[in-house]
Amino acid sequence: MTHPSTQHDWTPPAQHPGADPLDHAFLADVAAGGVRLTPEQGLTLLQRAPLSTLGRFADARCRALHADRLRTYVIDRNINYTNICTAKCTFCAFRRDGDEHDAYTLEPEQIHQKIAELSAIGGTQILMQGGMNPALPLDWYLDLLAGIKERFPYIHIHAFSPPEFIEFVHFFNPPGDTLEDKLRWVMVRLKEAGLDSLPGGGGEIFAPAVRRKIGLGKCDAEAWLTTMYVAHSLGMFTSATMMFGHIEGHADRIHHMDLVRQWQDRVLSNAANGLPTSGNTAPGAWGHYKAFISWPFQRENTPLGRLREWGQTDPAELDLPFPGDVAARVDGSGTKDLHPEFGRRLRMSGSTDYLRTQAVSRLMLDNIFSIGASWVTMGPHIGQVALHYGANDMGSVMMEENVVSSAGTTYCLDEAVLCMLIRDAGFTPAQRDNTYDLLAVHDGPDAPDRRVTDWSQHRAQRLHAQNAEPIESAVVPVTVSGSES
Ligand code: SF4
Repeated sequence: MTHPSTQHDWTPPAQHPGADPLDHAFLADVAAGGVRLTPEQGLTLLQRAPLSTLGRFADARCRALHADRLRTYVIDRNINYTNICTAKCTFCAFRRDGDEHDAYTLEPEQIHQKIAELSAIGGTQILMQGGMNPALPLDWYLDLLAGIKERFPYIHIHAFSPPEFIEFVHFFNPPGDTLEDKLRWVMVRLKEAGLDSLPGGGGEIFAPAVRRKIGLGKCDAEAWLTTMYVAHSLGMFTSATMMFGHIEGHADRIHHMDLVRQWQDRVLSNAANGLPTSGNTAPGAWGHYKAFISWPFQRENTPLGRLREWGQTDPAELDLPFPGDVAARVDGSGTKDLHPEFGRRLRMSGSTDYLRTQAVSRLMLDNIFSIGASWVTMGPHIGQVALHYGANDMGSVMMEENVVSSAGTTYCLDEAVLCMLIRDAGFTPAQRDNTYDLLAVHDGPDAPDRRVTDWSQHRAQRLHAQNAEPIESAVVPVTVSGSES
């Protein structure tokens, strides 16, 4: 697969359902892009392949796409414009109803100030997401986007995840016979006002049984995927995400990846066949998913995190199947009735489970160019190791983070440390933009990490909800936090 922005045809690799996915010759074919894993083969890999095997072949697949030399990062800023939200996701410690003392909606001037600070350090994009705030009319968003583009025309606006778009449809009641029509009506207007691309927030786990338990009031998988399809039909690029390590089974993770892969096939085929796009987009100029990022659930301060872990009080439970695994199916058909403890017990993810899941995502998602390392929750050194488990990108150099840090520890790094981590992992760091085009390759003496003479000023910092300043001032100057979504 070439860089997606230059890709003109797409034929999915053939599948060999009878092949043993643990066979190294078969995995070498998968890594070379000649064979596609079936969901069942992906599940076997996730559950049974040795960690070293997953790393070896995910790394080989990554090197086949991205070569051996460069691994990337982006400088952007995460702006959470409001924490008022109609949904009640059980994994969320960020949302507020609206009448609490710390409920907020940023003024456009405050958002401009944040972008000016980003611009001052060479930032190229903002990742702007919020709660789903019913008090904000469409004009608020149109004025905000137009105002940003007027003052900062060079800043890429990566904003509003699918659950926000689904609520825009509910709040603004746009014309149209179908959800797709209504989404397109809203999205065309936001795009014309300045929206450049959509983040993949709110993906969580697509399987209905899991999603109904953890994403109360949030859109279902069909609506999430339809929103992204509409964005792609307007020529916009998006990312996809997955949050795992809670009540779900391993088959749910594979089902999630498989759905992203199916919908990506659809838009890549549309583009290859010259299918008309929507809005003012040039014919055939379809967008698609640029990246997939997965990360483990952070439990602190969340209702979901209060569930008991499997085996926590009775170690004998660990000899029994986890309820999520009993209920999960790779086609998403699992139901809560398949285990009495489904949805009541947690299986948190550790470092190796994270690396296994990311490696399998690289092998399953043969039609997605970038896999992002999610070091923000696992720590910078696991993020560094993740570059050898299928990830080609270290995510976002950001200046603040509010959502994930509300639910646990997150790490912040500055650009020099991020470059040092990539270099120490055996690669040359390179700054990219939102479309994964390179802005700077740091192979000379002026590289951000090579200019550092005193590393004591550049240690990793931890953002933690209990230690953080109030949200409005929780800004860590020139720091990095990798919760891309
Ligand atoms: S995760 Fe997002 S949609 Fe869900 S409650 Fe929190 S802010 Fe709202």
